[in-house]
Amino acid sequence: MTKFYCKTCDRFYNLKSGPNYLVICPFCMEYVGSESDYGFGPIAPCTVTIGKEEFGKILPVDGYTLVSEKYRVREWARGGYKDLECYKSAAETVKEWLTEHNQEHEWFKERNESSRSRYTYIDLYVFALLYGVGLQDDELYKEALDEILMADPEDEDATELKYQTTKNAVMHTFRLMEERDFDKAEFGKRLMGVLAEYFKGSDLSSFADSMYKLWGFLPYRFSEEKPFCYLFSAGDHLSYGNRGECYDELATAFHYYDE
Ligand SMILES: [Zn+2]
Repeated sequence: MTKFYCKTCDRFYNLKSGPNYLVICPFCMEYVGSESDYGFGPIAPCTVTIGKEEFGKILPVDGYTLVSEKYRVREWARGGYKDLECYKSAAETVKEWLTEHNQEHEWFKERNESSRSRYTYIDLYVFALLYGVGLQDDELYKEALDEILMADPEDEDATELKYQTTKNAVMHTFRLMEERDFDKAEFGKRLMGVLAEYFKGSDLSSFADSMYKLWGFLPYRFSEEKPFCYLFSAGDHLSYGNRGECYDELATAFHYYDE
């Protein structure tokens, strides 16, 4: 199983394993990510999916060509294999196609009644951390806060957060994490699951820096415990030139809750 995470709308897409994938989010139409044997093998054929549904394939025809028999699309993917340019080009084509067909397609009918459950304080904490270290803008944080208030308009903490600037609200959220009791395991799973996705393809040393910073925002009562403590210690290996150990320690943290 390969997991893709849309950072724009906080949705996961689980796909069965295959060598080459390119995933487009049906909700925001953005390029979610790709996986390929680039560097070790051919990057085509590559399965192109919209969420979990197969749209078509990039085939090694005239360089690279996006082909969908089902939706009658055949479009040359420019840019070649360098930096996966042909993937980006194919993603653009799919986005154009989606924009053109967005009224009629079933993918969009589900748009407002997504399967995602309502956001809770656990999500708010995670989004505050991601915003705090610059991995995310404030959109998901605000969305989570609105949903918490919608579920309980009397919630005093959430009401107070709502009337602050995002920066202050996020700092205030870190204080709430410190003061309030919440399910540490549920929080850990949520946080590590999302970080694992941001980790993919990121620059190791700047990512380790962000994790060190993020660790500093965690509640004191469990920041020394596994897997949270790895976020603090991973970057140390880099100062000794041990990139492999830094990578392994971060990966251990992110996959701590995996079965
Ligand atoms: Zn999305």
